[in-house]
Amino acid sequence: MTSMVSGHRARKRFGQNFLVDEGVVRQIVAAIDPQPGDHLVEIGPGQGALTGPLLKRVARMDAIELDRDLCALLARHFSPDQLAIHSGDALEFDFAALGEDLRVVGNLPYNVSTPLLFHLSRYADQCRDLHFMLQREVVERMVAETSTTEYGRLSVMLQDRFDIEMLFEVPPESFRPAPKVTSAVVRLRPLRTAERAERGSAADPAMFAQVVSSAFTMRRKTLRNALASQVSASEIEALGIDPGLRPENLSPRQFAAIADHCAARSKGTA
Ligand code: SAM
Repeated sequence: MTSMVSGHRARKRFGQNFLVDEGVVRQIVAAIDPQPGDHLVEIGPGQGALTGPLLKRVARMDAIELDRDLCALLARHFSPDQLAIHSGDALEFDFAALGEDLRVVGNLPYNVSTPLLFHLSRYADQCRDLHFMLQREVVERMVAETSTTEYGRLSVMLQDRFDIEMLFEVPPESFRPAPKVTSAVVRLRPLRTAERAERGSAADPAMFAQVVSSAFTMRRKTLRNALASQVSASEIEALGIDPGLRPENLSPRQFAAIADHCAARSKGTA
């Protein structure tokens, strides 16, 4: 077992599936490739399966853990100079308070992984990269191409902000307790301002989020109907997009074009 000996009983409500396969731990650390001086931030360190090996590469790091018993366990095992433990909910955590150029890592609790990804995308500019273990099915949605069944709100929202790469799969036996599903490790690299401009990413993130969310709440409807309260069919057509398409047929760039049009119109510049 890679984690410290603890006697801690895994809590289902906190999505606790502890990594016990040292080979997988090595693979994750190799994928992150931490360099001395990197600012690592771990979400859900648990019993320290990743924390210990990461702290062999960097002198200190931050970690956010919801389970207070595990915070106490970590505090007994690592000195405060090595590990700054933030006891609390990563969903409410202000990552900007930790500074810039963050390298965020985590074997994420599966029960909150989607909201956590949305929360973290707000801090994309503060991050150098993010490496996560997630349910494989979630990673497949993150990297899904337009017009596939996996493509949806998560794909569009994240692809507008990040380059996303599925790295490798991890079988259930690598965890205690073993989850029912296969997992996968994914890397997200935030797109910089120039790359975002080049790719036609959304200029107004709030409007983009609103348009994408409305479109996918009515996935089976055409854009004309799904977005009727925000934009007319003729406006969609004027952007060179067929209003008869369904949301899953639109690229992140096309969603960005619609959102930017709505934002400009509400400011009176369209
Ligand atoms: N990193 C450890 C490992 O690989 O063995 C634990 C991974 S376990 C899948 C998820 C961890 O996230 C648990 O330690 C759990 O208590 C913690 N956690 C769950 N929800 C959280 C939240 N909202 N914010 C911060 N930590 C959370």
